[in-house]
Amino acid sequence: MIEPAVAAAYAILGSPTLLAGAHELLRGYNEVHSLDEDEIGLVYDLLVMRLATSAAISARQVRANPDNRYLAVSQADAWKTLLQLSQIDDALARSSFMEALEPRGKLQTIEHRAITEARARHLAAMLSASYDQPLHIVGGYMQYLYESDGSAYLDCVNNVPHVGHCHPEVVRAIEEQVERLNTNTRYLHQNLTTYAERLAATFPAGLDIIFFVNSGSEANELALRLARAHTGGSDFIVVDGAYHGNTGALIDLSPYKYKGPGGRGAPPHVHEVPTPDVYRGLYTETSTAGARFAEGLGAAIDDMGAADRKLAGFICESLLSCAGQIELPAGYLERAYELVRGAGGVCIADEVQVGFGRVGTHFWGFETQGVVPDIVTLGKPMGNGHPIGAVVTTAQIAASFADGMEYFNTFGGNPVSCAAGIAVLDVIEAERLQERSASVGDVLKSGLNELSLRYPVIGDVRGRGLFLGIEFVEHRETRKPTADLARSVVEKLKEARILASTDGPFNNVIKIKPPLQFDEANAGRLVAAIDSALSSLIVRVQPPRGLPASKL
Ligand code: PMP
Repeated sequence: MIEPAVAAAYAILGSPTLLAGAHELLRGYNEVHSLDEDEIGLVYDLLVMRLATSAAISARQVRANPDNRYLAVSQADAWKTLLQLSQIDDALARSSFMEALEPRGKLQTIEHRAITEARARHLAAMLSASYDQPLHIVGGYMQYLYESDGSAYLDCVNNVPHVGHCHPEVVRAIEEQVERLNTNTRYLHQNLTTYAERLAATFPAGLDIIFFVNSGSEANELALRLARAHTGGSDFIVVDGAYHGNTGALIDLSPYKYKGPGGRGAPPHVHEVPTPDVYRGLYTETSTAGARFAEGLGAAIDDMGAADRKLAGFICESLLSCAGQIELPAGYLERAYELVRGAGGVCIADEVQVGFGRVGTHFWGFETQGVVPDIVTLGKPMGNGHPIGAVVTTAQIAASFADGMEYFNTFGGNPVSCAAGIAVLDVIEAERLQERSASVGDVLKSGLNELSLRYPVIGDVRGRGLFLGIEFVEHRETRKPTADLARSVVEKLKEARILASTDGPFNNVIKIKPPLQFDEANAGRLVAAIDSALSSLIVRVQPPRGLPASKL
């Protein structure tokens, strides 16, 4: 029994696949040399003991022979792996190893069925699960997610675990604080002020006041109240395709929802402007598109004036997410903000998806447009999965909101949430994740661009840093969207153990927004997998009328 446990310990050393790697090794061993449940139950402890012994022996030998570097060759990886294992529930590890004894797929099917049935009993039917055959994810580490059978998936789509799933620094910060105290903002606490100071330091001067909330929706909801209080206006301008949150007020401001299934259209206080999309929008000349698209706001403001309505604000993501992973054309926000401020409104930048260094060149998406918003809203990546959000604004706007009614948020800004937020900022800085997003994003984008030269079904590759979109069309020349192909590629990627998903008004854009641990090797793997998915799918794609199949 000790042999496969020792082999498993070295198989996972320094590898990101951890449980999956050990699971595969045990399964292989069991197929040749059968193991029983008692034996497999010991593997986890034996494996940890082996790594601990190795680290201890190596430390002693290094002390005796400090010049012999070879003695420490596996020490760093042994410690790293021990640390990673300590973050994983040992019962989960044991059950994952136990499954190595089952015929492939059997146990998983039973579990899947039980969970699917329980979902149907207790959760609303509208809550969809990704993929034709949903995944049962039981663990995560950095840019990998682990299914119940131990398989490791490369995560290309989850931007909430910004610095990596279960990043040990963030886990430890939450653990340490939750063990000591969790209260609310009515008591003085160092975490709250430290975090507020650290966060404010990432913004241009003037954006100094922070309201802590628990989600992106709550942040945007509060931003609307601030805008109305400050301007005395009631109306908002929104960009077509946008999603800003799940509350009643925000569904009304989200064309992504109010124009979609079950939607009831824009209410009278909401004015929609065209998506500034240079690929399939009104204007495609990149040097002038920004200013020309922004004129849409001028028209909306004129309409409002004619109807005797008053503008409160303009809410816009700094790069558009649900609208199809769109980078705003240069000059768009500059001109739009000018028009909005000229009409007495305030400018709200929704950074819920794109903030915290994801775009690579800058920490905040709005900086790529050279503007300074009046209000910025934050969410998803802020706590690496811990629910936390914020509204950042100026002292003047915060003062307008102070009309005597207190704003209190039970959970917002609690010491545990702030500990998570501080740890996220620490990790971004220590691991230089913004810089990494820029460099890995460039490598990935150029790989995808090269692919697009070979596949005319790739209509557009766009985005910045690790916020990229791949738009699928029937043919580059027709630009006709093909959601089916995009979905099929996503399913093929899943077969290759890569997670991605689609979005955009035609659901034909694969969005890439992985945890920022994503590396160059991951980028290469993703490009190769899309290449092989397309080469296997492409025969089924019909050429547009008049084009020979050979041109596809
Ligand atoms: N704004 C944007 C741009 C979003 O993408 C989302 C969520 N997808 C929200 C706001 C709402 O955030 P939450 O789901 O945390 O309420």
